[in-house]
Amino acid sequence: MKRAAAYARYSTDKQYDTSIEKQLEDIREYCKKKDYEIVKEYVDKAESTSKEDRPAFRQMLQDGRQNLFDVVVVHKLNRFARDRYLSVVTAHELKKYNVEVDSVLEPIGSDPVGQLLWGILDAVNEFERLNLIQEVKLKSRPLAAKGYWLGGKPPYGFQIVKVRDESNKEHSKLEVNKEEAEVIKKMFELFIQGYSFSKIADTLNQMGLRNRVGNPWKFSAISEIIKNSRYAGQHFWGRGTKTNHRIFKQDAVVVNGPAVIDKETWQKAQERLQKYVRRRPLRYPYMLRGLVFCQCGAPMYGAFSTIPVYRCKLHSKSPGHVSISAKRLETFVKTKLQRMLNENIDFELLTRSLNEMLKENDPGDLEELLKQQQEYMQMIENLTEALAKIPASAQQVVINKIEEYSKMLETINEKIKHAQTKRTEFTVEEIRELYEALKNSLESDFELVAHKLTKKVTVYKGGYIEVETQFDGL
Ligand SMILES: [Zn+2]
Repeated sequence: MKRAAAYARYSTDKQYDTSIEKQLEDIREYCKKKDYEIVKEYVDKAESTSKEDRPAFRQMLQDGRQNLFDVVVVHKLNRFARDRYLSVVTAHELKKYNVEVDSVLEPIGSDPVGQLLWGILDAVNEFERLNLIQEVKLKSRPLAAKGYWLGGKPPYGFQIVKVRDESNKEHSKLEVNKEEAEVIKKMFELFIQGYSFSKIADTLNQMGLRNRVGNPWKFSAISEIIKNSRYAGQHFWGRGTKTNHRIFKQDAVVVNGPAVIDKETWQKAQERLQKYVRRRPLRYPYMLRGLVFCQCGAPMYGAFSTIPVYRCKLHSKSPGHVSISAKRLETFVKTKLQRMLNENIDFELLTRSLNEMLKENDPGDLEELLKQQQEYMQMIENLTEALAKIPASAQQVVINKIEEYSKMLETINEKIKHAQTKRTEFTVEEIRELYEALKNSLESDFELVAHKLTKKVTVYKGGYIEVETQFDGL
């Protein structure tokens, strides 16, 4: 039987406002289930802002070094240490004395230290990826400004031609495809004459014309073309995707290229377009789309009252459902993430712990891990199927087995992620740079970073906002 230390502490976090008594109760029950014998309970009652005023925590560490117990059981890992990297360091420290860390709420496999490490690795990988995005953007911008085509299929009416720059480097450029250009001209001509998009499509199809893949023209394709300034010789690069291109980004680059139609034709078509399609107002981007939830648990959607808001579907139907200014909510989340990223971080300590643990936690062979993943998934599936066919009295055994396998599977999945990174060592500078890159991206690409760092945002009546981040577990 393992000797366990229970650790509970006061928390100000609303999402985990489990009382100390309840924490201890859960820990005791958990220990019973795991066959741990609790030898001592450590409780930090006071609300604390630094590790200095957590006497029980320090005592627990000291006793751990004396080997007074084999495992520390906490309710949730973020109670274990306030700073997210400190908990990794603490767990690592305890491991040196053969003391494990276990948590009631987290699905931890056989190696909680590894789990925590992988959490950090995940974040580091994300930093690297984000850094890459920035780099690609920075590198592409001057090329795009010169009118080089940066990949993908050329739009209808154009073809790709290879050109060489001053330093004899090869680039792609667009040039007019004469045959397709005639079709484009016809579209604009008919549109100016007053044809609707679908009537233009019908006319072209009756003439036996087909689009590039050999299918009949559809009104949507015609509409895209008539609205695309590229055909008049000018377009915007870095303006955003198809769905949000109406949001003009300040760093968009104006690119001049070959024209299919003349400026006068373009002008006339746009004038008709204004009458033809009622201009929709500039759409608000709702950058936290998919992350925001009402206190009732339902997702909140971007909507427009007098200002852009996020609101629960039931907001107008019954009280207890929330609507909040989109700007206000986004500013709140951004400030919270900024504060999180600006926390004082001991990069030396973080890097050292990370590298030490990377060495100790060799994930093993990727292929072998993928095989194991398949096996566990198969076993879980088989057991789940079997569950329906066996008497209720025998079901608990199977459920326990499924839970056990699920935990194993989770550990394997983490190891796979780890094995795929192939990194075995980081320098302090690297970690620092990656961190800086992430901070900068928060300014330049809030939407992306917010989705990477935020798990969930819950809005309560009265304006209380709760932000769960990817770092909460650490
Ligand atoms: Zn609601």
